[in-house]
Amino acid sequence: MSTWLETYPAESLVGRAYQFAEKAHSGQKRQTGEPYINHVLAVAQTIYQWHLDEPSIAAALLHDVVEDTSYSLEGIKKEFGEEIAFLVSGLTKLKTFQYPSTTAQMENWRKLILAFSKDLRVVIIKLADRLHNLKTLNYLPPDKQKGIALETADIYAPLAYRLGMQKLSGELEDLSFPYLHPAEYQWLLKMVKEKYTEREAYAQKIKPLLEKILAEHNIKPLAIDSRAKRYFSLYKKLLRYNMDLEKIYDLVALRIIVKTPEDCYAALGIIHQFWPPLPGRIKDYIARPKPNGYQSLHTTVFCINHKIIEIQIRTQKMHEEDELGIAAHWAYEQSKDTKDYKKKMPVFASRKDLAWVKQLQNWQQKFTDPEEFLNSLKIDFFKDRIFVITPHNEVVDLPAGATPVDFAYHIHSEIGDQCTGAKVNGKIVPLDYELQSGDIVEILTQKGKKPSKSWLEFIKTSVARDHIKKTIRFKNKELQKKIEPQNLELKIISHNRLGLLKDITEVFSQSKINIISLTSSPVSPKLTMPIINIKCPYLKQTKLEKLMVKLKKVAGVKEISYKFNR
Ligand code: MN
Repeated sequence: MSTWLETYPAESLVGRAYQFAEKAHSGQKRQTGEPYINHVLAVAQTIYQWHLDEPSIAAALLHDVVEDTSYSLEGIKKEFGEEIAFLVSGLTKLKTFQYPSTTAQMENWRKLILAFSKDLRVVIIKLADRLHNLKTLNYLPPDKQKGIALETADIYAPLAYRLGMQKLSGELEDLSFPYLHPAEYQWLLKMVKEKYTEREAYAQKIKPLLEKILAEHNIKPLAIDSRAKRYFSLYKKLLRYNMDLEKIYDLVALRIIVKTPEDCYAALGIIHQFWPPLPGRIKDYIARPKPNGYQSLHTTVFCINHKIIEIQIRTQKMHEEDELGIAAHWAYEQSKDTKDYKKKMPVFASRKDLAWVKQLQNWQQKFTDPEEFLNSLKIDFFKDRIFVITPHNEVVDLPAGATPVDFAYHIHSEIGDQCTGAKVNGKIVPLDYELQSGDIVEILTQKGKKPSKSWLEFIKTSVARDHIKKTIRFKNKELQKKIEPQNLELKIISHNRLGLLKDITEVFSQSKINIISLTSSPVSPKLTMPIINIKCPYLKQTKLEKLMVKLKKVAGVKEISYKFNR
């Protein structure tokens, strides 16, 4: 048993989850040949180290139980309650998603994962799971390796970065790198190894000098470390710099941790007095944090022996947030009520300066109350939107409450018009079914089928509404055209006389028939009798006959003919 696990009594939640998982996975082996429980323990340990709560640790221990063993979600619910079952069910479902291989859809997939998970703990446990899977990726067959590496680099590493988990994001990228670009990775290893050693030695030489000049100005750093640039991030940077390693100044950077933001600026000033900065390379991420919340001062200076080195200055709080991101805030939320919170979490941000919240805000325009969001750290900033999946594995973003009909019209107006039914996750559902994030939606169509007016009562999108209305209007017009002519045109030939038109129009008004238009040809030498043309709405046969009788009685009328206009 792992030492961290020993701190939990056997009858505690975590202790019970461990026993449950051990029993469920007994006899199972991973591709590595190890007992399966080792994987589950590794994930749970990561969650423990990230200071998440006990339900999260328990869920991490149970995360593969439902998929890989004969145990059901019901069994977990009975044994551990709603909360754990909810977390485990989210993790189980996440595994069933087949991520796309095109980059165009990636952002939507990231949103889908967040919206579907509903609770950030699900996402964080998933990231810990992925981290361990990558560490043991070399045991999988090569075709699987590439797929998992790609999915990690495209979806999970950026997701971790968005959540401010910088260290994890870099780690996930670095672990994927050799599988994604094996040749480039080998090349970089060879190229950089010597450089790294050389730069590292140089950084070590600078360290005592830095300590000395800062001390002379009454700044006592909590720590000065050197950090080597991560391989994948170095590779991406090299692509922008013609693969010229000489142009990469932050291959090894010095990192100074001080007590306060004021000390950060003071230290920067002192360093610049001794070593001049390279123009344009001072970056104040304290005043202007990166979108994911990253804070630090960066400068690149001409240092001793005419060498260039990057120096990063930050507080302890900024440092820990950089490494743990949203998980740090989770831990903060968890422990703030406990007595040892101050001891355990001395440095976390107050809610107000959580820049990542703003980042998430930008991610989803219609953000609900951020304060409320923070209270629970539940993912309700996607409250207004849902993300569902097409049979072609594309993510579609719809308003909450959207139905299969909305989905169908979103895909194509023709699919909407011809929609006869829908399947969600393989099962037939009614057309007014309320779609949920993560649903896989398939529309059944029938050629020539027209939309139903009743759909207007449940659809949520204006795209669907406009199309349905348009099609129904069109359909009604078509029907009318088939059954009834549009209007009636009468041709009356009559002797000309004073008051003729008045008498004729009176017949119409007495019969309560509107005249749409009336024209009369002028009398000419050729045409001794005027022709009067009257257009009126379509009349049924009996009404028409009555009208004709009345018109024929009008003095002077010789002849009446009529036709229907369509
Ligand atoms: Mn797993």
